[in-house]
Amino acid sequence: MSNITFTMIKPDAVADGHIGAILGKIAEGGFKIKALKLTQLTVADAKKFYEVHAERPFYGELVEFMSSGPIVAAVLEKENAVEDFRTLIGATNPAEAAEGTIRKMFARSIGENAVHGSDSDENALIEARFHFSGREIF
Ligand code: UDP
Repeated sequence: MSNITFTMIKPDAVADGHIGAILGKIAEGGFKIKALKLTQLTVADAKKFYEVHAERPFYGELVEFMSSGPIVAAVLEKENAVEDFRTLIGATNPAEAAEGTIRKMFARSIGENAVHGSDSDENALIEARFHFSGREIF
């Protein structure tokens, strides 16, 4: 599976009623949905998913936030998926994100920033497998 990326619509955007609008932006961006589900991370799941950030000062808050409510997890396919999806979502801090990006439109703050996007092909595969079994990815 090359040309894939993994995303989550984070608890803030789900709670704010943005699932449909964000999936619309993803479709308009030319991404094909390979896997999709509404789910919720346990604290242990969130700790493991973000373990590369364990030493960062925001780790505790991030784990608490990401396990605080339902998320939408998805695997997306497109040529150059990882880079193009990060362009579509915009900068980590919505205040610095370009006009028209998902984070600019829907994020609350640098922490509660509406969506996740994998940062490499290798991590996209790891993250897709973290959330989905083989038979849930089409
Ligand atoms: N984050 C945070 N405070 C910060 C930086 C990041 O709470 O100062 C959170 C935010 O939810 C971000 C996630 O940690 O999406 C992962 O950070 P990263 O730097 O990998 O940003 P991303 O790749 O998601 O843009």
